[in-house]
Amino acid sequence: MNYISTRGGGDCLSAAGAIKQGIAHDGGLFMPEILPDLDSQDIAELCEISYPERAAYILSRFLTDYSWEELLEDCASAYSPERFVGGAAPIHKLSDNIFSLELWHGPTSAFKDMALQIMPKLLSRALKMTNETRLAYILVATSGDTGKAALEGYRDVPGVKIMVFYPVDGVSRVQKLQMATQTGDNVAVCAIRGNFDDAQNGVKEIFGDVEFGKQLEDRGVFLSSANSINWGRLVPQIVYYVSAYCDLINSGEIYAGEKINVTVPTGNFGNIFAAFLAKQMGLPINRLVCASNRNNILTDFLETGTYDRNREFYTTMSPSMDILISSNLERLLYTLGGSKLTTRLMKQLSTDGKYTIPADLKQAIDAHFTGLYCDEANTALEIKRTFCDDGYLVDTHTAVGLNCAKQYIEHNHDGLKMLVASTASPYKFASDVYKSITGSQPADELSALNELSELTKTEIPYPLSGIDKRAIRFDKVIDKVDMREALISTL
Ligand SMILES: *Cc1c(COP(=O)(O)O)cnc(C)c1O
Repeated sequence: MNYISTRGGGDCLSAAGAIKQGIAHDGGLFMPEILPDLDSQDIAELCEISYPERAAYILSRFLTDYSWEELLEDCASAYSPERFVGGAAPIHKLSDNIFSLELWHGPTSAFKDMALQIMPKLLSRALKMTNETRLAYILVATSGDTGKAALEGYRDVPGVKIMVFYPVDGVSRVQKLQMATQTGDNVAVCAIRGNFDDAQNGVKEIFGDVEFGKQLEDRGVFLSSANSINWGRLVPQIVYYVSAYCDLINSGEIYAGEKINVTVPTGNFGNIFAAFLAKQMGLPINRLVCASNRNNILTDFLETGTYDRNREFYTTMSPSMDILISSNLERLLYTLGGSKLTTRLMKQLSTDGKYTIPADLKQAIDAHFTGLYCDEANTALEIKRTFCDDGYLVDTHTAVGLNCAKQYIEHNHDGLKMLVASTASPYKFASDVYKSITGSQPADELSALNELSELTKTEIPYPLSGIDKRAIRFDKVIDKVDMREALISTL
């Protein structure tokens, strides 16, 4: 199966080529030329097998240049019970018609693990398949979660090295400890004096520095990114929607072929786009509810057809959804509107910061998506209500999703079961979760973990427990101008 650009440029690559290259030469994102289909027979067969086997099957339909044995081996180790304690993507039944799909049982307690545990293995194989002899150096600037998930994913993967830069005062204490104690022989972490933009701009400058690129080339190294627009991060996300559907059949909650609705707390539009792809392949999904926090640019877009990033940016307690440019939306525009239109709209976005889609594209999007949002007060209320009424503890992002799911159900009496993507462990955002339930602020972030555990009689997940007792491996703080030197010093 070939991969082409959403902007219609000449790139036409194998899956391995697309995963290695990351972004198309014309600035577009890679998409498969055709979507494989999933019929009722396929779903029936998937019901009978384990999560890693389901994952290998879905991946094999897209990554046709990878062998079945390779995919099965990689999926088995990525989604092993040691890495995903309690299952890869288990479902928790919240009420008669609402089900929480828990995507945070991986090594960093957030849903990014679902993709970042497998994608580095896919990249490593892509390097081999394309006869790459150079070392791939993954460069990441992070405001917290992605950096840790990338470190865990790329740790000890052959042919790859990873460096994560984070702003010294821009991440939480738990996040800092998570990264500073990272294990693995091919990993490095460095704090930057400044904020997240400084770290990100520093990384962007390095990617654009031709002279530095040559220096690395001489050492047999090329730079690569772990960015969420890479196809290798998107395709593993289709798996858990298909898997959840199978689990709902197996537990007798739905009959085979019954339609369900899906709600996804959304930032970059990657997770919900994966659900859309599952729907396009044939998974019986009725509507996709795109849940936003106070940064509700997508809610406005889905309602009006105008995407306008010229607006205030809010810092919320669901920081992974604090995004004004949802990169993966480009893939939706392409799928339903074609590459010519997508190219024009993306150009408008970069020059004017906004665009309006034509009526027929709006209608096509309306046929699948509903956009809703939840503000800060209601997010806190949802956490409290879900814990007190349903005995279920959710994080701030999942609470946004749950609230929007309930709004949808209130206004649309379609009687269908609702699957809500739960994207982080409540312990990942322990302070805000604790405060939402009790109304009082814990002493600090580390003690919040224990206080939340005592209050709710639930266990701190293994990636976060005892984090203050692990050995610090990386404590370097540098200036932005010294980032290149820091990289070179690891070679
Ligand atoms: C990344 C993230 C999201 C948003 O997912 P997108 O694919 O960017 O839409 C939601 N919740 C959590 C906890 C995340 O880490």
